[in-house]
Amino acid sequence: MILGHRPPAVEEALRRALEIGTVFGAPSRSEVELAERIRDAVPTVEMVRLVNSGTEATMSALRLARGVTGRNRFLKFDGCYHGHGDSFLVAAGSGAATLGVPSSPGVPEAVTADTLTAPFNDLAAVEGLFAEKGHEIAAVFVEPVAGNMGLVPPVERFLEGLRRLCDEHGALLVFDEVMTGFRVSFGGAQELLEVEPDLTTLGKVIGGGLPIGAYGGSRDLMSEVAPAGPVYQAGTLSGNPLAVAAGRTTLEILADGEVYSGLETTAGRLADGLLEIAEEFEIPLTIQRRGSMLGIFFAEGPIRNKEEVDASDRERFARVFHRLLDQGVHPPPSAYETWFVSAAHGEEEIGRTLEAWRSALAKET
Ligand code: PLP
Repeated sequence: MILGHRPPAVEEALRRALEIGTVFGAPSRSEVELAERIRDAVPTVEMVRLVNSGTEATMSALRLARGVTGRNRFLKFDGCYHGHGDSFLVAAGSGAATLGVPSSPGVPEAVTADTLTAPFNDLAAVEGLFAEKGHEIAAVFVEPVAGNMGLVPPVERFLEGLRRLCDEHGALLVFDEVMTGFRVSFGGAQELLEVEPDLTTLGKVIGGGLPIGAYGGSRDLMSEVAPAGPVYQAGTLSGNPLAVAAGRTTLEILADGEVYSGLETTAGRLADGLLEIAEEFEIPLTIQRRGSMLGIFFAEGPIRNKEEVDASDRERFARVFHRLLDQGVHPPPSAYETWFVSAAHGEEEIGRTLEAWRSALAKET
């Protein structure tokens, strides 16, 4: 909810869309307009398919990658989340780079047998996997700025290294920007970090608070998707008129860039305030921030992967979380979640949050 709840322009767009109809089983003009806005903002996305959630987007991108490469295996990183598609629900094993085992009951081992995992930011582990199995790997899926283990940015040259390995071995690089797309900047993490993926998945912001997802890439790759190509994917409610109306209006508001400079200021003020107060109490705290996304860890930084998040003081996080909640401030409930600042957060909200934070940390000493 990058603009906060019920922004008037989005509400108005929804009202207008409702008067026309909620589903037509055919593409609508506003669906095409949203697709064009996405294409214009994210240059690697020449063609885009709208779906109903981030989960659908990553599942479909994986099918496409497997379909075009004729390979089954893919690599994901420990601590990255790509929705609840069976083959993504994988726990890392004990080695640096491992074969996946299911992380949820109900996911058969056969389904995750082709999921490889490596620690985030560990290019050497990825190089090892490619050296051994490169010709079998269809794709590397990565959150270019990881947001599902708190916020963990890529270390220097990590994404560039993934790009190079994928090129050398004929695998596709997929940036899962469901969280970072239109969030860390208008063109997403790929714009900020200047690394180009083959496929991009989107969700969240592009639906303006309604259910949506999208995946896209070059015209050549996306032309492999049905009905133009043989890789099947379809959805009754995809490109839903209400979701695209909310999404299109949200992107229209974001396009002028002012929202992002406001978010940068607010998020910076929040991060500085949280750190200053922790310093006063001599409590080790690391904040990793990209734009309006913040990772808050009770540990000495930097935090580069899930193992380091695991090692942070998560019990302290839980205590502080409940004390904030008791004071009417509702942050994400664990160190594995990213904090998001919205355009609706102003001086007053930041001030109240810092006050509550001070009183929560005071009880730690
Ligand atoms: N990919 C990323 C990076 C996500 O953060 C999420 C959800 O948090 C998903 C995919 C799944 O999206 P959804 O919950 O819309 O299915």
